[in-house]
Amino acid sequence: MKITFCGAAGEVTGSCYLIDTGEVRFLVDCGMFQGGHEGDLKNQHFPPFDPKTIDFVLITHAHIDHSGMLPRLAAQGFRGTVYATQPTRELLDVMLRDSAHIQAKETEWAEKHPHRNGHVPPDPLYTVEDVDLVMERVEAVEYGAQVLPCPGVACRFLEAGHILGSAIIEVQAQGKTIVFSGDLGQPDRPILRSPTLVEHADVVLIESTYGNRLHKNLDDTLEEFIYAVNDTLQRKHGNVIMPAFTVGRTQEILYLLIDLTRQRRLHNLKIYVDSPMALAATEITMKHIELFNQEAQKLFAWGQERRKEMPDIRFVRDVEESMALNEIRSGAIIISASGMCDAGRIKHHLRHNLGRKECSVVFTGFQAMGTLGRRLIDGVKLARLFGEEIAVRADIYTIGGLSAHADQNGLLHWLGGFRQPPHQTFVVHGESSTAAMFSDLIHEKLNWDVHVPVENETVTI
Ligand SMILES: [Zn+2]
Repeated sequence: MKITFCGAAGEVTGSCYLIDTGEVRFLVDCGMFQGGHEGDLKNQHFPPFDPKTIDFVLITHAHIDHSGMLPRLAAQGFRGTVYATQPTRELLDVMLRDSAHIQAKETEWAEKHPHRNGHVPPDPLYTVEDVDLVMERVEAVEYGAQVLPCPGVACRFLEAGHILGSAIIEVQAQGKTIVFSGDLGQPDRPILRSPTLVEHADVVLIESTYGNRLHKNLDDTLEEFIYAVNDTLQRKHGNVIMPAFTVGRTQEILYLLIDLTRQRRLHNLKIYVDSPMALAATEITMKHIELFNQEAQKLFAWGQERRKEMPDIRFVRDVEESMALNEIRSGAIIISASGMCDAGRIKHHLRHNLGRKECSVVFTGFQAMGTLGRRLIDGVKLARLFGEEIAVRADIYTIGGLSAHADQNGLLHWLGGFRQPPHQTFVVHGESSTAAMFSDLIHEKLNWDVHVPVENETVTI
């Protein structure tokens, strides 16, 4: 049996692993690369295999860097089934449509303003029709249930605590158990339950986004978050811009803003959630309260009883309404996508607020190399938006402790759940220096055999 690392090898985006048993070929994840021109090029050349030869696909979770190329797969002849948990299936429908929509808009904009970008825009990777084509093929699976996608292969999806519906996937084939961590959540964080500990595997693929770092503890993180919000709104009288993934992070930020209002640590908030799909994603989240942890279930009950004490939250749908937000000079918290500032409405909000010293941009999620978000947290003085140079005067906050990813200790804790060392362990989904460092750490702490694959490397397992 062979595994090929088609993405997320030495980087955090483009998750896609091809498993070939000799009889069956399947993918675990089919994600988009994110991060500037290089990411665009990789997406244009995707997939590095013939989609017609793929029998089925397993999706760990709905984030675009794990699922975003599914429509392209279908457009190029994939006719198998895609397996995902029920919330993931619902979120995919939202995410993939949003992605197709953003691509169409960006191409349209670039065609109208060719001189601003200086280069010809890439063709969209797929259309809304391709999204329809692949969504028909998605079959929902229950957490913990055995799934038999074809003779000789069995799998289980287990809770990963990263975003709603996220899963660790265990695959059994040819007498071996392969465990794909997917993206792992930090244990004991808002909303979701902690990742499931798995006891046995012959082969493990572990993510390493924060394999080189420890998150601040939650109390310090909340203090930082409260300071950023209060300092901007109360003292500087500006706006707070929060770039956030539509799915997961947006709901977590709302959860925190509501919870901190309940605790009377934040007051009179006016929150605008400006990403076209955020309302749909939030509604899907609210349909699955059974998957929340206990605290989140309690907060939900509080919100139901004490509606008057809730912060003022508005979901912005129309482009006109979104543009009207550009006129607001102070007092607003604007949550918008994309989370790494490379696409979507967040770019407009940055354009109107980044140059104002009374405003702040609060990052709460990982910013991949090559993205505008990364450049901002690295302290660039000039940001390029829609072909215009904008001097960065707003305060930039990075609240690392709210990450949806486990930190180094969280990852080691999860690996510690295995009773015996796996025969093979692959460190994926981390920037190459991080993955290499985390791999050394696993070897040192657990004495496991670890390998950091490079992109498109094929290994016998
Ligand atoms: Zn993710």
